[in-house]
Amino acid sequence: MSSLSFYPTLLSELREIALLGSIQSVLGWDERTHLPPKGAAHRADQTALLAKLTHERFTSPRIGELLAAIESTTDYSADAHSDLAVNVRHTRKAYDRATKLPTSLVEELSRTAVLGEAAWVDAKAKSDFSIFKPWLEKTLDLKRHEAACVAQPGQSTYDALLDEFEPDAKAADIAAVFANLRPQLVELLGRISTSGRKAPAEVLTRSFPVEKQEALATFAAKTIGYDFSAGRLDVSVHPFSTDLGPGDSRITTRYDEHWFGDGFFGTLHETGHSLYTQGLPSEHFGTPRGQYVSLGIHESQSRLWENLVGRSVPFWRFFFPKLKETFPQTLADVSESQWHFAVNDIGPSLIRTEADEATYNLHVMLRFEIERALLSGDLAVSDLPATWNEKMEDYLGLTPPDDARGCLQDVHWAGGAIGYFPTYTLGNLYAAQFYEQAKKDLPDLETGFETGEFSPLLAWLRKNIHQHGKTYSATELVQRVTGKALSSEPLMNHLKRKAQDLYGV
Ligand code: ZN
Repeated sequence: MSSLSFYPTLLSELREIALLGSIQSVLGWDERTHLPPKGAAHRADQTALLAKLTHERFTSPRIGELLAAIESTTDYSADAHSDLAVNVRHTRKAYDRATKLPTSLVEELSRTAVLGEAAWVDAKAKSDFSIFKPWLEKTLDLKRHEAACVAQPGQSTYDALLDEFEPDAKAADIAAVFANLRPQLVELLGRISTSGRKAPAEVLTRSFPVEKQEALATFAAKTIGYDFSAGRLDVSVHPFSTDLGPGDSRITTRYDEHWFGDGFFGTLHETGHSLYTQGLPSEHFGTPRGQYVSLGIHESQSRLWENLVGRSVPFWRFFFPKLKETFPQTLADVSESQWHFAVNDIGPSLIRTEADEATYNLHVMLRFEIERALLSGDLAVSDLPATWNEKMEDYLGLTPPDDARGCLQDVHWAGGAIGYFPTYTLGNLYAAQFYEQAKKDLPDLETGFETGEFSPLLAWLRKNIHQHGKTYSATELVQRVTGKALSSEPLMNHLKRKAQDLYGV
């Protein structure tokens, strides 16, 4: 084989591996939306087989040989942002990581995730931490082992795990950003809680018939630019978005007749994720050049549409009349400004997934600190419930009445996702910083929202973020798009403006 053909051969190998992966995704989507209960065991066999085939194919010596041949015959990194450099660099990194993990550890991690999640479900239902404790201890041991296998020289255990979710990020940098953000959030929340003003949140818990919510959610997704001929909206217990490949980015939501926020903002959130994947360059499918940057950047896209756009005054200037038309009796006595205040209610709560856009970040910080301490051994698993409750009191002024509403509320650690939580707050920070720049670049942006014109924002996101795939790291991307390194300032400015407008503080 001539040296020049190594690269196209590598690309076609990667595309086939990605096809296998996308078949798994189709099965995963079906499992969470339509699978009859009796089909679960067979589905598990199907996905396990595909996972094994995909892993074998990617870690085969053939991929290593192709990479080595390209690296030795081409100056592939002459331009670090060329398609060639991006694809070779990221594939090398993923290949080294995958091949450094012994198969026995991969199997043990996946088995422990399934059993650990089952134990967590039971522990949460009974609010009994002792049921989950041995599984969390085992998971932490396995994750330390995983980190030891894949860590770069000098890389910490936590950073080695974080890298899977937020490539090249460092816990120390995140801790510094969080340390700057936390006192500002606490101060803002203090002012809001003593403002004497309260959002009329009751209006969100009135009767909203599900089929009407679905029609409105579909209309909203379409209006902000989601292409229903390249996706679909279904119902699932836990909302998600999934990228099945070019022309197929699907979303799900869930509806609660007496909680408007769940279905509507859940749909906006997942639509934001799928607008990103619908905007990835399809000609680069299966290669890093056609993939999302990091979980933090992915989350920035969902948060941008859900919060920065979807909870804004101009957004509701357009949508409020449609909302009233959809629920005329339910909202007969509600004004646009009352509604806007209700969907922007800010205040401490026990559950992360139900938290507002300000307190949400405190929930994340607490988890970030705790998982670092658990991983390092500074915090014993047996002390987790007490430490969790102390930090909740310290951060949010609340003590969970039980562990189900405390340290057992999230599935992440049970499933082995340690180092995942900070990507949520990184997403909020990136979202605010990107949005601030979009408003500078497009001065009429929010005036357009008032008449249902959202395409300039989507076009801006496509041009600045989506079309680049993994060409730039998250750090490079935010610098390139906004001219600045990631900072807590845009998010805090956004929250302070909101507190001023709504709470007068
Ligand atoms: Zn998300």
